[in-house]
Amino acid sequence: MKTNPNRRKKGTSELLKSLGPRKVFREGARKFMASFDGSKLSFEYDALIRARSEKDVQTTLRLANRYRIPVTTRGAGTSLTGSASPVNGGWVLDTSRMKRILIRKEKSMAIAQPGAVIGVLQKKAEEEGLFYPPDPSSLKYCTVGGNIACNAGGMRCAKYGVTRDFVVALEGFLPNGEKVTWGGEYKKFATGYNVRDLWIGSEGTLGVITNAVLKLLPKPELTWTSVAAFSSEKRALRAVRSMLKSGLTPSILEYLDQESVYCAEEIAGIRPFKKVGGKPLLLIEFDGSASELRRAKWSVKKWADDWALAFKAARDENEADNLWEVRRKCSGAMFALGEDKLNEDIVVPLESQLKLSDEIKRLRNIWKLPMPTFGHAADGNFHVNIMFDRADSGESSRAEGAVNDLMRTVVRLGGTISGEHGIGLAKSPFLRIARSEAEIAAMLAIKNALDPQGILNPGKVFYPYEVWDETPISVPLPWDKKPILKES
Ligand SMILES: Cc1cc2nc3c(=O)[nH]c(=O)nc-3n(C[C@H](O)[C@H](O)[C@H](O)COP(=O)(O)OP(=O)(O)OC[C@H]3O[C@@H](n4cnc5c(N)ncnc54)[C@H](O)[C@@H]3O)c2cc1C
Repeated sequence: MKTNPNRRKKGTSELLKSLGPRKVFREGARKFMASFDGSKLSFEYDALIRARSEKDVQTTLRLANRYRIPVTTRGAGTSLTGSASPVNGGWVLDTSRMKRILIRKEKSMAIAQPGAVIGVLQKKAEEEGLFYPPDPSSLKYCTVGGNIACNAGGMRCAKYGVTRDFVVALEGFLPNGEKVTWGGEYKKFATGYNVRDLWIGSEGTLGVITNAVLKLLPKPELTWTSVAAFSSEKRALRAVRSMLKSGLTPSILEYLDQESVYCAEEIAGIRPFKKVGGKPLLLIEFDGSASELRRAKWSVKKWADDWALAFKAARDENEADNLWEVRRKCSGAMFALGEDKLNEDIVVPLESQLKLSDEIKRLRNIWKLPMPTFGHAADGNFHVNIMFDRADSGESSRAEGAVNDLMRTVVRLGGTISGEHGIGLAKSPFLRIARSEAEIAAMLAIKNALDPQGILNPGKVFYPYEVWDETPISVPLPWDKKPILKES
């Protein structure tokens, strides 16, 4: 997007006059920290706006619209695709300070501002005996606005679905600063187009969310965690199919391939089984009432007898927490295999999971890079972690080749290139692999109709961006697991 520097300068000084220096930052550490997200792709931009109210959001958008200044909305900046990085400069609109949460117990709903942190929302719901299931691993930091804009997932999607399944209504602003409300604190609406669902997963390109009505469920009475080791990756994946086919509905069914288990066991020193090591694992969680869990325990133990090499169930919360260590630690431990990680959250249908395991072996052989893979086996959303050293040009170009190959492979297997992280910048070169020209044209028509000036998060999703030339900046991020690894 081409912007006029004079217009941007005039717009920024008017913004500063309207909102004041406590909300608008044209320099300093705070501004720098908002120049990138979890992808560490950093860009120059003119001003950071730390909005405290809807009025601040509206003022920002009205001015941006008048002066045609790009606006990249931002929550916690945990996006792994560069979707919150201001690639076209302009302004970054940070909504993380708008964090009020109201629990409406009688309606089983939460009313949350966009900056509310997911972990805090979950805790508040639990205090009222309620439950907000979407659980991205970044939940200690990431926000309601960011989760809705990325349609975030997590481990519990196996049973409960993704963020979209919990959004009842949205309130916010169109790029021109007009306020809009899509739905309300009611469960049904059939009143015109459902723009709410267009905003979900649109990565901040269609509107700015300032309030969300979210669905809550009754808090499950109990949870039960277990882990199973398998003789091979294929056997583990066959066991997944068998469990789902039998009608069992785990709340979590996480798969760790052999390379991920190696990272957890040999690098991080977490060994779920004393006698069986180095084998692929499934981590399994069920939740529900005591009688539901009694039935599940019986069926799972029988299933494990048929399929697993070893099986272990937690007897209490403490033991359950220990079982999760293997999943928690494997991700950080991967950095021993390569300085840099491309975490590709691809999806394949259940029937293609075995083929995917073969394909990952093929990719490892061709591109000669470690690719520990784990993920949400019940919904086919796997995280293929391509480990490499960006400073090594050979490894860097092999990583590029591997990603390209992987994207084409998952589409060939009937899957898609992102299940929960979105497209942003990192996956924009591959959109055309996953979607047809007609589909992209339809999406662009919507974008152009709702954002005719093209000011909201320009340069994302549709516009192939060359991430390979960008040297990510070196800043320790709070969720960066490297220090944990060094301590152990
Ligand atoms: C360690 C780690 C683990 C992760 N695990 C998971 C996981 O398990 N599952 C998962 O799905 N993701 C995961 N992620 C990715 C990331 O946390 C999610 O994409 C999350 O939804 C981003 O939320 P955020 O508040 O950080 O948003 P940001 O990164 O700030 O922004 C993300 C997108 O949302 C838009 N946006 C933000 N606020 C608004 C708003 N108010 N209105 C409109 N648009 C807005 C931005 O423009 C941008 O396009 C992980 C990331 C990290 C670093």
